[in-house]
Amino acid sequence: MTRKVLVSGGTSGIGAGIAQAFRDHGDSVIAVGLAGPELDTAAKDGAFRGITLKALDVSDQQAVDDLAGSLGDLDVLVNCAGMIRRMAEYEMATFLKVLDVNLSGTMRLCMACKPQLAARRGAIVNMASMLSFFGGPAVPAYSASKGGVMQLTKSLAVAWAKEGIRVNAVAPGWIATPLTQALQDDAARSQVILDRTPMARWGTPADVAKAVLFLASDKADFITGAILPVDGGYAAM
Ligand code: NAP
Repeated sequence: MTRKVLVSGGTSGIGAGIAQAFRDHGDSVIAVGLAGPELDTAAKDGAFRGITLKALDVSDQQAVDDLAGSLGDLDVLVNCAGMIRRMAEYEMATFLKVLDVNLSGTMRLCMACKPQLAARRGAIVNMASMLSFFGGPAVPAYSASKGGVMQLTKSLAVAWAKEGIRVNAVAPGWIATPLTQALQDDAARSQVILDRTPMARWGTPADVAKAVLFLASDKADFITGAILPVDGGYAAM
């Protein structure tokens, strides 16, 4: 059966890898990202062939509701949109913005898509992080948002199980994407990451996508409320 899949943050990095993996699996995929040059570039990129690309700011309630209302059926929602602002997150306006995108944006899409997902007994996969489990002194808002995503995932899993919606999350470790480009480019800091990661390599969007496809599939049909690390063993140490 061809499923309809919506991936927020699906125009870049991990989300793009997830959108492409569902497309390669034969699903019908809508990938959304912020309007702007990244979306324009993605639209011209052959790697997105067969994927419907749309603009969506997950911090815009009306835009989220409009998109959800235009979808028709929906089988899988993947909440991957995210931002990080590091030390600027100690400024209150930035702190609130990161929370609004990473945590409230996830809740907005979950709520807006709930009727369609319930009708199809569908699945949600959210994007947590190692920083759902650990504190991050250089990223207070990002860490708080990802801790929140973990608890939101568990709460919605419990609340919506009777309606047939499974809600899980993946918690990626260090994944090579534009979000982590500065760290990848810094040989000393990259080495610290590799030394701390038992499997001693950066993860790829494809590594995360495989776990997301599993959680969204009927192979996981008795799994809900789980937070699955995809981190080469980082959180096990
Ligand atoms: P990325 O390449 O920067 O992708 C982030 C995506 O989120 C982009 O598609 C971006 O759209 C979108 N986005 C940002 N703000 C948005 C908004 N307000 N509304 C809608 N979309 C928005 O970073 P990534 O590494 O793939 O991160 C994807 C997710 O994985 C994030 O939730 C991140 O926290 C999580 N994660 C990443 C890592 C890692 O090591 N990379 C580890 C753990 C968790 P544009 O491209 O249009 O700006």
